[in-house]
Amino acid sequence: MTVSLEVNNPPEGLARDLAAIEALNLPRKDALPLAASRKPRQTLLDYDFGELTAVVKELGFPAFRAKQIWGWLYQKFAADYGEMSNLPRPLLEKLAAKAPLAPLEVVVEKVAGDGQTRKVLFRLADGAEIESVLMLYPDRATVCVSTQAGCAMGCTFCATGQLGLFRNLQAGEIVQQVLHFERYLSTTEDEAAMGHKRVSNLVFMGMGEPLANYLNLWKAIRRFHDPDGLNMGARKMTVSTVGLVPMIRRFAEEDLPVNLAISLHAANDTLRGSMLPINHRFPIAELMQACRDYIEKSNRRVSFEYTLVDGQNDSPAAARELGRLLQGMLCHVNLIPMNPVPGSSQRGSTGERVKAFQAELTRFGIPNSVRFEKGRDIQAACGQLKVEKDAAELKRAAKQPQETL
Ligand code: SF4
Repeated sequence: MTVSLEVNNPPEGLARDLAAIEALNLPRKDALPLAASRKPRQTLLDYDFGELTAVVKELGFPAFRAKQIWGWLYQKFAADYGEMSNLPRPLLEKLAAKAPLAPLEVVVEKVAGDGQTRKVLFRLADGAEIESVLMLYPDRATVCVSTQAGCAMGCTFCATGQLGLFRNLQAGEIVQQVLHFERYLSTTEDEAAMGHKRVSNLVFMGMGEPLANYLNLWKAIRRFHDPDGLNMGARKMTVSTVGLVPMIRRFAEEDLPVNLAISLHAANDTLRGSMLPINHRFPIAELMQACRDYIEKSNRRVSFEYTLVDGQNDSPAAARELGRLLQGMLCHVNLIPMNPVPGSSQRGSTGERVKAFQAELTRFGIPNSVRFEKGRDIQAACGQLKVEKDAAELKRAAKQPQETL
C-alpha cells in the first residue's frame, strides 16, 4: 500500500462547503486560485499515527517502530531524525527521503520587554511566511497558532488581511509551530519562562481563517489532543472564525469540545460589513442563528471577540446594540482595544471609551472582559511582524539603486 500524506477525499458535503468558501467574492479573491493550487512538499509531521504506522510497515519495518518515532516527535520534541537514537539507521534514511523532518526556519523572533510574550516569524519550505506567538500568564502558556499563510478574508483592522492569501498550511506546519515552543519551554533557562515547562493552551487566532482550512485544522487538533501526542485537553483549545456559517455548523458536530470564538466586532450589518467583508456573504442574523444552534447542540458557550476601534464601533449606542443582540445567549464577550496596524489610520479605543462600552454591555447582563493584546511593543497582533518585515525589505529594495550608484 502506498500511503499519501494528503488529507484526501473529504466527504461530499464538506468538499462542497470548502469549495464555496474558496469561491467567496472577497476583496482578495484574485489570490485564491493560486493559493488552492499551492501544495508544499509534505513532511513527517503531516502523518497521523495510523499513516505513520502504514508507512513504517511499507518500508519493511515492524509497526512498533512507529510508536518509537511518535514518542520522539511528541514527547521528546525531536527536531531532527539524527536525534532518534534507538531507531535503525536504514529506517530513518528511508523515512527522511520520503518525508523530511525540517523544523520551521525562524526569520525574526521578538520578545516583549517583560519577557512574557515571544513572537516568531517562520519561513516555510516553499518561502511562505507565518507568525506564531507564545504568551505566558501566571497559570498558563498559550500559543497563538496560524492556520494559513496570509488570509483571504480582508478584515480592515487586521495586518494579515492586507496580505491576501498565499496558501493553506498543511497539518504538519500547524503542528510544527507548537512543537517549536514546546522545545523552547522544555529547555529554556529564561527567567520569564520559569514555571512553564509545557504549552498548556492553544488559540487558533494567528494568520488565516482556521475554518477555511478545516481538514488540516482538525488533523492538527487531533494530534494536539492525542494522549500519545501532546495530550492537550480539548477545552484548552480555542478556534476563532470570522463567521463561516456552514463550517460553524460542522464544528458543532465534531466529537471534541474545542472552544469556539466568533470575531464579531459590530452588531449591525452595515458596520460589520464595512469591517469584515465576509459579513456580506454571511450576515449577522444568519451567523447568530448558527451560533444559537451550536450552543443548543453542544451545550457550550460561544466567545465573541469585539475589537474596539476608536470612533468606529466603540460608542455607548454600539454597546447597547451588542447587548440587545446577545441578550439571553450562553456567551462571553472579549473586548479588545485594537492594536495599531502599520499603514492604517485606525486606532484602538481610549481607556475611557473602553470603560463606557463595557459598562453599557454589563447593564444588559452580558458576561464580558477587556483583553489587552499582549506584546504590543513587539507587534504581537496577527500579521504585524510580517507586514513590518515586508515593508522594511521594500524600503531597502527602493534604496538599493541609489546605494549602488
Ligand atoms: S482577522 Fe483573521 S480572518 Fe480577518 S483578515 Fe485577519 S487573519 Fe483573516
